[in-house]
Amino acid sequence: MSEPSPNQNADCEGNILLVDDDSALLEAVTDLLEVNNFHVVTAIDGKTALEIMRDYTPDLIISDITMPIMDGYQFFDTVRQNSAWTPIPFIFLTARGQQMDVRTGYSLGADDYLVKPFEPEDLIIKVQARLKRVRAIQAATQTEVDHMKQQLIAIFSHELRTPLTCIYGYANILHEDHAVMDDRTMTQMLDEVADGAERLVRLVENLMLLVRIDSGVVGMEVVRYGTDVDLSGLLKRVVESFQPVADMRKVVLDLQIEGEPITRGMKHYLENIMKNLVDNGIKFCKRGGGLVRITLNTHKNQAVLTVSDDGIGIAPTNQARIFDRFEQIDRHEMEQQGVGLGLTLAKSLIEYHSGSIEVSSEPGKGSIFTVRLPLA
Ligand code: ADP
Repeated sequence: MSEPSPNQNADCEGNILLVDDDSALLEAVTDLLEVNNFHVVTAIDGKTALEIMRDYTPDLIISDITMPIMDGYQFFDTVRQNSAWTPIPFIFLTARGQQMDVRTGYSLGADDYLVKPFEPEDLIIKVQARLKRVRAIQAATQTEVDHMKQQLIAIFSHELRTPLTCIYGYANILHEDHAVMDDRTMTQMLDEVADGAERLVRLVENLMLLVRIDSGVVGMEVVRYGTDVDLSGLLKRVVESFQPVADMRKVVLDLQIEGEPITRGMKHYLENIMKNLVDNGIKFCKRGGGLVRITLNTHKNQAVLTVSDDGIGIAPTNQARIFDRFEQIDRHEMEQQGVGLGLTLAKSLIEYHSGSIEVSSEPGKGSIFTVRLPLA
């Protein structure tokens, strides 16, 4: 048996934790595994095994079922409750004829079992097969994580660099030439600087909001500080604030409100939801003359807000993805502002207000986002 520290040597096939109260079996199986280049740490019951696992994470666990102090089932249960240990393959050892043990082990979620006495080759084959599978999954997950990291770096560097370049460039020109510049040009450049700064502020605010949502602060705020909010007044102001950008892009904003729905919640979070949806509608509606229709009414004790556009639409396979964080569809093909957080934040904020959001869309025809919020 080796010391409870993982063997990192390249020729080591894997670190195994072997748990059994039968010292003769412990010795024999350890020898067998070590001859096959595995590094083995042993324990005589589940409790001792858990103590070892405080400082030592094995690649695979082989455990007997019937043991004093803590049996194999309890040990398995505790291991699976710790998320860091969930991926570790777990093989039960069971006495011959105890079919119930096998069934219980499988129903608990164990990866495999061996009936004692077993053929040495069977043990080695099972251990190798389990380790191979877990390593293949780890490799696939790592590739996905690496890809995501690269994507995030690309999105963030673009989203930071674009407004910064604009602010820096125009600030330099203004610094050098302000004395000879006419008022109109100066105002245009100052507007560009303000737009770039606003884009950066929005990015930072969205990231901060994401942290507040993840930490549970937003949920607590909605419950504790929520007030009655007049959705129609709020929506009118949001749509008005988008009028200049809509005019610039020749987009028609069509607002239709029926009644005066009131919901209970935080005004600035509800405003954030509306802004994200209208912003997306303007971004993704038909180029050079699109229409974004925004409606608000009530239906069965709910306020119903819809934002529809006549733009590119979203393929059915992507419709669930768009609510995931940092997801943007075809960003590489189409210039998009933002980092793919708008709908993630909107969905969380809506759910904290006990509401729901759904999308219905047809590629090439447009999308409709429908938000339902309970009436106060
Ligand atoms: P961002 O904050 O970067 O705008 P969102 O989370 O709001 O990102 O949206 C995620 C992605 O969903 C967008 O990048 C876009 O691909 C897609 N999407 C959102 N709204 C629409 C829409 N109205 N029409 C088509 N695609 C949309």
